[in-house]
Amino acid sequence: MAMLKKVLIANRGEIALRILRACRELGIKTVAVHSTADRDLKHVRLADESVCIGPARSTESYLNIPALISAAEVTGADAIHPGYGFLSENADFAEQVESSGFIFIGPRAETIRLMGDKISAKQAMLEARVPCVPGSDGAIPDSEAECLAMAEAIGYPVIIKATGGGGGRGMRVVQKAAELVSTIAMTRSEAKAAFGNDVVYMEKYLAHPRHIEFQVLADEYGNAIHLCERDCSMQRRHQKVVEEAPAPGLSDEERQRIGARVAEACRRIGYRGAGTFEFLYENGEFYFIEMNTRLQVEHPVTELITGVDMVKQQLLIAAGEKLQLRQEDIKPHGHAIECRINAEDPSTFAPSPGRITRYHPPGGLGIRVDTHIYSDYVVPPYYDSMIGKLIVHGEDRETALNRMNGALTEMLIEGIKTNIPLQRRIMTDTNFRKGGTDIHYLEKKLGIQ
Ligand code: ADP
Repeated sequence: MAMLKKVLIANRGEIALRILRACRELGIKTVAVHSTADRDLKHVRLADESVCIGPARSTESYLNIPALISAAEVTGADAIHPGYGFLSENADFAEQVESSGFIFIGPRAETIRLMGDKISAKQAMLEARVPCVPGSDGAIPDSEAECLAMAEAIGYPVIIKATGGGGGRGMRVVQKAAELVSTIAMTRSEAKAAFGNDVVYMEKYLAHPRHIEFQVLADEYGNAIHLCERDCSMQRRHQKVVEEAPAPGLSDEERQRIGARVAEACRRIGYRGAGTFEFLYENGEFYFIEMNTRLQVEHPVTELITGVDMVKQQLLIAAGEKLQLRQEDIKPHGHAIECRINAEDPSTFAPSPGRITRYHPPGGLGIRVDTHIYSDYVVPPYYDSMIGKLIVHGEDRETALNRMNGALTEMLIEGIKTNIPLQRRIMTDTNFRKGGTDIHYLEKKLGIQ
């Protein structure tokens, strides 16, 4: 099958630039789309063509499906890459892209829908023998008595989660039986208001888990592989702050066991493209929580340990190529760490948009900077505060940690506040350096409860 000729990049910032670079290497032309606030984005300047799709507010631009599809029509693009965030996990968008005659660079709409509903995703995973958090395995019963009996059987604390939830919203922890019924009612009504769906389910609440996720790649023809795991336990308000690969202390036996299960799950659900299976990991056990049916912010750490270009693979799969990589080709080497660089106050976390008056990126062996910023670039106040990612690779974790610390010291961004000081605190933290800290560690360290 012929390679794609022209790809429309339905995103902004560093990921739009990342996609543009991969397209260029494959000789694919690019169309940048941007809001009125984003005319000066680096990838807009570098793209073969660019189209302004609307005002600053993302509901009127990056989330505006008709504007995106008409931009693809007028420029004669043959495929659309959604990046991450925005419309990347929107099944209706994927469907409209395909019904308008374009290739959606991602899985089929029905797969996005299946995995986007947490209950159906969990049921699909149970059928594929992927380990899940013990719980109701479906919507909770109507009767209060049955809910109480179920929570008793699972054991407190339990967590009530909305099947339509996302972004860390739509879930509540229940510590004891007296709170169960009212919490279910509260979660239901919140979920109804936020997601238009009041179906909720119950899970055991894990007290001290780590977040470990597995990267997969699958083609149209039933070939699927895993590209090992990432540990993303360093989080604040369910937002990842640091990611690394491999996960400290994970044995190769565990890696291969779960990796084989998720690759098999991809074959069973007819998965296509790049995807991530997220797990909580506690006391040596993995518990599936959700699948992300898209490219992730943290994909570079996987690229650095495996040598596989994830975006190129996405483009090849979308073009209808067979996966050339086999499982035995994936041999991770060394250790990679990513620090997200955010335009925010390092202690209050208040966003800090504005003009970057001076910018000096770090460099040297094993250092990668994925960012769209430059000296004089103005960070707009309308979008996510992440302005880039600093990623390092070293032969072992210790080397990678030291290299990251040095690179953070070298990195200079003036004119706005950034979280670089926080990242330096993390890189020199004794417990983080030991490896294996849980998902609550950062908030505890920062004194947030
Ligand atoms: P979302 O789609 O909103 O990100 P997830 O199901 O991925 O929802 O859960 C988000 C976060 O909530 C997890 O990373 C974890 O911190 C916490 N969480 C979810 N389920 C559980 C659970 N059963 N026990 C403990 N923490 C949980």
